[in-house]
Amino acid sequence: MSLLRRGFKTWCENAARGYRRELNLQPFAALNPRLLAATLGVRIWTPADVPGLPAAALKQLTKTDPTSWSAVTICVNNKRLIIVNDQDSVERQNNSIAHELSHIILEHKAAQVFVSPAGQMLLSEYDRTQEEEADCLSGTLLVPRDALLSLLAEGDDQARIAAHFVVTKDLLRMRINLTGVQKQLGRRRYG
Ligand SMILES: [Zn+2]
Repeated sequence: MSLLRRGFKTWCENAARGYRRELNLQPFAALNPRLLAATLGVRIWTPADVPGLPAAALKQLTKTDPTSWSAVTICVNNKRLIIVNDQDSVERQNNSIAHELSHIILEHKAAQVFVSPAGQMLLSEYDRTQEEEADCLSGTLLVPRDALLSLLAEGDDQARIAAHFVVTKDLLRMRINLTGVQKQLGRRRYG
């Protein structure tokens, strides 16, 4: 069962429209979450940019187990910054950054905060509702419903649409399911 409150999806679509306007993007254009981060005053780092990250932690994140994490938001001197796993594909990084930005936009308060051994980093943990909201907003920011509907109606296949928005095929599939666009397009199959 979805934990999203009524009207939340619509709010996300409006937010996606608003941020595109703010970034001078066409309504159906891809949104680069790194540009959005810049306008929100959030910096994006890679693990190598983190001062005082113990060498062992850096090695763990980047070499030993690069697939075990995608991105974290940390708070340094009251400023939020996102550390993204730059070993991931650009598409996955976009998803991770948009997800972390969504927590920030939605002003989610972490249920639990961990202080790193380095002392100044706070790693946040969110509850399930907050995770679902962040997934919904990030998916909508990257792939707005109107744009998705229009591209599918034009006959573009999923691979092309995913490439257009620079997102993973998994994310695109999730958006197709969540938005119910297939129903609106009738029984035609897209794959
Ligand atoms: Zn999250």
